[in-house]
Amino acid sequence: MTNAPVPKPWIMEIAPYIPGRSTTDDGRKVAKLSSNENPLGTSPKAREAFASAATSLERYPDASATELRDTLAAKHGLDPARIIYGNGSDEVLHLAAGAFAGPGDEVIYVNYGFSVYPIATRRVGATPVVAPDKDYATDVDAILAAVTDRTRIVFIANPNNPTGTYAPRGEIERLHAGLRPDILLVIDHAYAEYIDGGDDDGGMALAQNAPNVLVTRTFSKMYGLAAERIGWGYAAPAIIEAMHRIRLPFSITIAGTAAAVAALGDTDFVASTRDHNAQWRAWFADEIAKLGNAGLRAIPSQANFILVLFEGELTAETAYKGLMDAGYIVRWLPGQGLPHGLRITIGTAEETQGVIAALRRMAGA
Ligand SMILES: *Cc1c(COP(=O)(O)O)cnc(C)c1O
Repeated sequence: MTNAPVPKPWIMEIAPYIPGRSTTDDGRKVAKLSSNENPLGTSPKAREAFASAATSLERYPDASATELRDTLAAKHGLDPARIIYGNGSDEVLHLAAGAFAGPGDEVIYVNYGFSVYPIATRRVGATPVVAPDKDYATDVDAILAAVTDRTRIVFIANPNNPTGTYAPRGEIERLHAGLRPDILLVIDHAYAEYIDGGDDDGGMALAQNAPNVLVTRTFSKMYGLAAERIGWGYAAPAIIEAMHRIRLPFSITIAGTAAAVAALGDTDFVASTRDHNAQWRAWFADEIAKLGNAGLRAIPSQANFILVLFEGELTAETAYKGLMDAGYIVRWLPGQGLPHGLRITIGTAEETQGVIAALRRMAGA
């Protein structure tokens, strides 16, 4: 007998999620380029809808999120009955793990994958299996080689976070074709809106047609609504039905839902965010390439951030601290096997140019 409640052993194996920072070591507020938020803010229409929702705070939200599902379905050509929603797509990822994996089961994700996957996996007592990457990108063959009789879920983010890498449609289809039909393939589309030229990895078509594919999406990035925690997913009816059984009944709020619905209607805001990101992501990558002599390298990104590797004299840790001194917080990820990398969100024009100027100074260029 012990004299205090004992957490489950698999819970104590979870390394807590580390959020992006917004202040420096000495408490200064600086440009936050550590959480892949939208540097252009939020659609004014979404902000207006959010403010108008302040009238009936005593009411519970609509537990079936009918307006949100109908608006999403109309916009994306989907069946509203097959949409699940949650407190950010993080909740939807947890619902997938909770409904389809448990003790004795294995869950696969890639090396340098999104940090929520190990947490969602261990939380339900399942065993994480990490598939090796191919120069920081998703390696379909390595994932397929990691499959065993115990595999229940494969999580991939496409584009991936923190690497920004993108697996094209052929690779996603090959991955799906190589998995047993009883394995749930979760394709996390948190950054799908940022892919060059509106390219599509075919994930949503698989979720439409296959019985074992869940696509997750979020309002936190392109739609600039990270504060309001609205995410959603799409899959076959049986997948969605299982996830609904363990969903918190009221995990998305009335104001957040109103903002999300309005944001879907503001195509100008989305287009300007996409253009801004494409322009400055390309510029940023070009500028990092010019620092190649100093050992800096940008991993090709299709997201709203770039992973910069420091393989010369200037280390990622030194650059991280130097950027903080210069007024920019970025993401240093030693806990994710990337002590030599910084993940830098594409900010405003001024921020993006400021980061490059600081890196050039530190690299002696
Ligand atoms: C940001 C992000 C999410 C979205 O998180 P929310 O809970 O919807 O805010 C999901 N997956 C990846 C890979 C992300 O980077």
